[in-house]
Amino acid sequence: MAVPWYPRSWAALAAALTLLLVTGCGGDDVPPPTAESSSPAPGPPSGTPAQPTGSAGPDGGGSVEEDIQAAVSVTNTYWQTHWSQLFTGDYSPPRVTGAYDGDTPGTPVCGDAPLPDDNAVYCPDGDYIAWDMDLMRWGHARGDAWVYLVIAHEWGHAVQNRLDAGLVDLARELQADCLAGAVLFGAAQDGTLTFEDGDTEELADALTALADRTPWTDVSDHGDASQRVSYFSRGARSGVKSCLPNGIQ
Ligand SMILES: [Zn+2]
Repeated sequence: MAVPWYPRSWAALAAALTLLLVTGCGGDDVPPPTAESSSPAPGPPSGTPAQPTGSAGPDGGGSVEEDIQAAVSVTNTYWQTHWSQLFTGDYSPPRVTGAYDGDTPGTPVCGDAPLPDDNAVYCPDGDYIAWDMDLMRWGHARGDAWVYLVIAHEWGHAVQNRLDAGLVDLARELQADCLAGAVLFGAAQDGTLTFEDGDTEELADALTALADRTPWTDVSDHGDASQRVSYFSRGARSGVKSCLPNGIQ
């Protein structure tokens, strides 16, 4: 993914994502879950990350740090631009404290708990977003869309924290995926983000890699791969309002 925008067909992107819903995410080869969560989760393998096979078209070529910076900017710009069309009140961005290393002493804390290793978080206590750089580097090696998904998802939790309770879905992890889809595809429509060849596949890959092995049953669950792709795609197709309870299905 890249900024700025070079025109590309929105319809083609939507079609590609729909196709992925049908053909992708079989679930048989889902790697161990590495998703952000409030509980420690097994992270990306330490040591030598496994390189994906068949991944990625030509990426923007940015470093992981550059892509993170772009993802933060694109996501914040989307919410800043559209907030008043969607919700009452003024938009305020969360703080972005950014990179940490959950593997070393002195990891920042959220409340009383150290930030989780190989993970990413929105911390309501302090209203900030942070990520373990090991997670970002590991995912970025699979494709640059990874960091856009992680940041847009965590930003979705910050948005949830700003909404009336009635607008927050009980399945809040899946709602955060939906909001991430709405933001990334909405940004493409706004012209602040370019989808490159392979990006939609990378997004589906990332959602699958970060999924639970089992379907959503509890408020802390992330949902299985097909659920995560489904919620992300709903937001991508139909926007933020479709992510709200009783939204457009
Ligand atoms: Zn989450």
